[in-house]
Amino acid sequence: MTQTTGYTTLEASVYASKGLADCTVLVVDDERSSCLVVTTILSDMVQCKFLHDPARVIGFCEQLPPDLIILDINMPGINGIELCQQLKQHRTTSACPVMFITGEGNAETQNMCWQAGASDYVRKPVIASTLVHRVKNILQSKLRLDLLTELTFKDQLTALYNRYYLFTEIPTQLKRLSRERKSLGVIMIDIDYFKGFNDRYGHVVGDKCLFDVAQTLKEQLPGPHDSIVRFGGEEFSVFLPDTTPEKCRNIGQSMVDAVANLSIDNEASPLAKVTISAGYVISPPSNTPGLEQLLSEADLYLYEAKLAGKARIQGSSEQQNRPC
Ligand code: GH3
Ligand code: MG
Ligand code: MG
Repeated sequence: MTQTTGYTTLEASVYASKGLADCTVLVVDDERSSCLVVTTILSDMVQCKFLHDPARVIGFCEQLPPDLIILDINMPGINGIELCQQLKQHRTTSACPVMFITGEGNAETQNMCWQAGASDYVRKPVIASTLVHRVKNILQSKLRLDLLTELTFKDQLTALYNRYYLFTEIPTQLKRLSRERKSLGVIMIDIDYFKGFNDRYGHVVGDKCLFDVAQTLKEQLPGPHDSIVRFGGEEFSVFLPDTTPEKCRNIGQSMVDAVANLSIDNEASPLAKVTISAGYVISPPSNTPGLEQLLSEADLYLYEAKLAGKARIQGSSEQQNRPC
């Protein structure tokens, strides 16, 4: 049996929130001296990164999403205003606040910055105290919004997405994939013999087991746009955009194997350990069915996996009967 920690640790891990010192600010300015001034002013408060080449900004943000991007306007290749427009249209950066620091001050330029989606505008030469307070205000608002979003969309026990996320975000994703003629893989997962687990070890240990299984499932997600939701009590649903039946089955099988490899004792199961069963479907790239239909089809395959002996995955593209 793995160690139990009870509610306190679980809640702490779910609610552990980020402070100003954990925030990353990306400063983009082709002039090295300007970059140095701004990063020196801010580096006591936040983690500063800088780029001199505006063309590298989106790639950088995909690897390390910042909490604030500070842009110069006049840069070679692409100017700051165009870059800000691109950032606001890009999926990974659209919600990231952008501040301009620029020597340009006429009304038309300022208006273009606001139109491009800027959150703030500071004139060069910068006054250190003003810059620090402006950055602090933006970051504190972002941290509050991030926490609110987290509390709205996340399940409190497992820190996975909740049903509200499922029924607000996934239909939008499904529509976008349908427009792009891409498929969505859906896996429904249910822990085997979990009522017996609770009866034997108690609900606090049951909660710890749910948390551990949830983290293990999440670790198997390969892509940044893949998501996992706590669907109900001991049931989870996984969403894999732009996938193939083979990839979907492999990911599902890796989840079945990874949970079995946790080797959490469950004397209520004939395998004497905690296992999961899974069912999956792939939406066709055209004529995409609705979310409810995909979920209920995946649920039927999950039911088949249960009937076939549990601890396995069954899916729409092939029969898979390998128990773990
Ligand atoms: P099967 O192998 O067919 O899936 O059977 P099962 O016992 O897992 O399924 P059943 O639906 O009968 O029981 C699900 C159990 O999950 C019942 C409930 O005690 C437990 N459960 C649901 N939510 C929670 C939770 O948040 N915490 C804990 N500890 N247990 C939960
Ligand atoms: Mg169940
Ligand atoms: Mg179950």
